[in-house]
Amino acid sequence: MSLFEVKNVKVHFPIRAGVMQKPVAWVRAVDGVSFTINEGETVGLVGESGCGKTTLGRTILRLYDPTEGEIFFNGRNISGTNGSALKAFRRQAQMIFQDPYGSLNPRMTVGDIVGEALRVHKLCSGNVPERVAELLTAVGLTPDHMRRYPHEFSGGQRQRIGIARALAVEPKFIVCDEPVSALDVSVQAQIVNLLQELQEKLKLTYLFIAHDLAVVEHISDRVLVMYLGRIVEEAEAGELLSNPLHPYTQALISAVPTIDPATQRKRIILPGDVPSPINPPSGCPFHPRCPIAIKRCSEVVPAWREIRKDHRVACDLA
Ligand code: SF4
Repeated sequence: MSLFEVKNVKVHFPIRAGVMQKPVAWVRAVDGVSFTINEGETVGLVGESGCGKTTLGRTILRLYDPTEGEIFFNGRNISGTNGSALKAFRRQAQMIFQDPYGSLNPRMTVGDIVGEALRVHKLCSGNVPERVAELLTAVGLTPDHMRRYPHEFSGGQRQRIGIARALAVEPKFIVCDEPVSALDVSVQAQIVNLLQELQEKLKLTYLFIAHDLAVVEHISDRVLVMYLGRIVEEAEAGELLSNPLHPYTQALISAVPTIDPATQRKRIILPGDVPSPINPPSGCPFHPRCPIAIKRCSEVVPAWREIRKDHRVACDLA
């Protein structure tokens, strides 16, 4: 059953100028995205920096309002929800941030940070410290840590505090926004394993945003590849890694390091940078960088096609 259904969502931000601050252009951060997330699964979302991953993650949590399109959570349209209905939705859908230090208030103790959501949502009345101790233990910290401040912890421990804070309201769904990108490689595996253990124990559903395909493959059931505000490929994680169809996905996968010489791929270096989302290229948005582009690619937007079961791609030559 689908927990989330995202239908043709667009998020455009205005660029304002002049005395009247009128919009003179629009940043098309997310430009017509549709996908579903089933209950209990982890969907990976990959792409280069600036492709719109974080904006999309924040939009489905309604931290940003969609410019167009609809978002359904548990069958209910939450695209325009406000007030108490939005607050009730936010209890069920939380976020873990990339920067575990920047997202924690340095003036608050860990007990106050994790307990804040319990107080805001009026959960666990009168018993907050006990519940905070339980949450800290669940993420591999100890109850003693609740009296300390964020600066007293390592990067990995701070991310554990961020996870405990997200779990405080007993959510069903969590957007993990590059949760291990800022951490040492040795700590990354611990955090990914913790997220997997918690998912199993608490029956959580994740949208896991990352630019590192190796991490995404490890944790995800299904992967969405995003380029310039659009989804360009979708497949089950193993299928995507072993049989990428879109030239952009092929380039991303060729950059994944491997220690087995038998599975080493030739590195595909894409020319240029990701174009500006203010004025995206015509036709296929990837055509200025695509190594196999033909004339037609700059004229026609490629159709979103299912090439084989549950493997879809936006490339007319795939
Ligand atoms: Fe490349 Fe053309 Fe396919 Fe776009 S449609 S990915 S430009 S081959």
